[in-house]
Amino acid sequence: MKAKFKTVCSECNAQIRSGEEIAKSPSGKWVHKYCTSTSDDLP
Ligand SMILES: [Zn+2]
Repeated sequence: MKAKFKTVCSECNAQIRSGEEIAKSPSGKWVHKYCTSTSDDLP
């Protein structure tokens, strides 16, 4: 999903800006979509 507010990625600690693709980590924190370790987008 896209971020609706500014927050900080709990994986890389970089800022997440509104409009960026984000995902929720297993611990319930927001992370960049590309910072998740899931392989859902891979074949
Ligand atoms: Zn990140």
